[in-house]
Amino acid sequence: MVNGSNFQIEQQCPQCGAPIILDEADRILSCKFCRTRVYLAAEDIFRFYIPPAEGLSETIYFIPYWRIKGLSYTIKEKDMNRERQNSLFSYSISSTIRTIDISNKYFDINFLSLDSKLLPHSLGLRPQAMKLKFVGSNESEGKFLKFSPTLRDNFINDYQTRTGGIHKEIFIGETASVIYSPVYCANNRVYDALLKKPLDLQKRDVEIEQTLISATDEKWHVEFLPLLCPDCGADLPGEKDALIVFCDNCHTAWNPSNKNFIRVKYCAWREAKDDNITYLPFWQLKVKIAGFPLETYADLIKVANLPKAPSDKWTETPFYFFAPAFKLNPALFLRWCRQLTSAPPPNDLIADFPVKKIHPVTLPVNEALESSLLTLVSLTADKRNLAELLPSLNFTLEDSSLVLHPFKVSTGELVHTKLGFPMDMNALNMGTYL
Ligand SMILES: [Zn+2]
Ligand SMILES: [Zn+2]
Repeated sequence: MVNGSNFQIEQQCPQCGAPIILDEADRILSCKFCRTRVYLAAEDIFRFYIPPAEGLSETIYFIPYWRIKGLSYTIKEKDMNRERQNSLFSYSISSTIRTIDISNKYFDINFLSLDSKLLPHSLGLRPQAMKLKFVGSNESEGKFLKFSPTLRDNFINDYQTRTGGIHKEIFIGETASVIYSPVYCANNRVYDALLKKPLDLQKRDVEIEQTLISATDEKWHVEFLPLLCPDCGADLPGEKDALIVFCDNCHTAWNPSNKNFIRVKYCAWREAKDDNITYLPFWQLKVKIAGFPLETYADLIKVANLPKAPSDKWTETPFYFFAPAFKLNPALFLRWCRQLTSAPPPNDLIADFPVKKIHPVTLPVNEALESSLLTLVSLTADKRNLAELLPSLNFTLEDSSLVLHPFKVSTGELVHTKLGFPMDMNALNMGTYL
């Protein structure tokens, strides 16, 4: 199993040209020779390519493949048979209760992003063994074929609605990128440019060659953004895989991923004694659910049948979904969504706070949003009517911010200092899904 293993990317330092090896999930490039630190940004998604074998003089065509990785949850309707024996009259009553079950798995897949039945439909395991490069890092490398975003959407849609109705897949993507695999044409055959072996195209090589020649080019290159705070100009620190960077100087947070820095709201649930506190980031999501009353915490108490007395305070407390803003295995991820969403929201959050140790944000907000339906299903106490309700529920994100929660190390675990929930430290080490 190579689940969770990331591939590596070879990239030169944009300042001094030194060779640097990046991990697929890295967003910050730091050069140890010239100390340059830049943020790697893309307008939409990252594009990498597998370098062809050396010494080929033919034109290289790069075939696009989607690479998608993340958490996957299946919401399924399940029959629960209840048999009741009545000993006095000696007959049994069998009743079926329909309930809802959520199962999860880790998801790591790649598939061809061209409308062709003949080209290999997946990359196989090659990327893990190879060092990839960013598309655009070498202009003369060959022709990169434009990929099809609709194929990805179709794939996700097919995946999400299997049978319609209740059987539903929720997919929380951690990585979506395009990987290009090289081929070339010679002697009326199409060759794999890495192995220098002909592809098995069922004698339709010439047809494929025509497709390659007439296909549209993909022009793209990665952007290097200087890691300077747009507000105060200070250097922005951050772990290499951080999607969001925090300014120590003016206490702001920024999302540079779409080529410019977008401000991200954040606040912290501050622990008075700050020594040895690590703050873990969670997305706080204000979500509008069409046709489902979940506006206040009092609504949640009712829906989830929480052991809390209804009070005026709860009817005035807005309801938020919470989800980890970092990678976790599927079972833990959902458990944290549930735990924090059902806990009464803290009322002593502070915004202007110089947080020292922050675990990097590695899950974007739009992916965290996908967890709302799961959290709702998982928290709903009476699941009987959910089956009919689910297909029509519509979630709209109205507002989001990061909330930093305080954790303290205690015997191999991080423990939430306010709520007492433990977080397994191994689960936090990213990329380990074993
Ligand atoms: Zn350098
Ligand atoms: Zn600043």
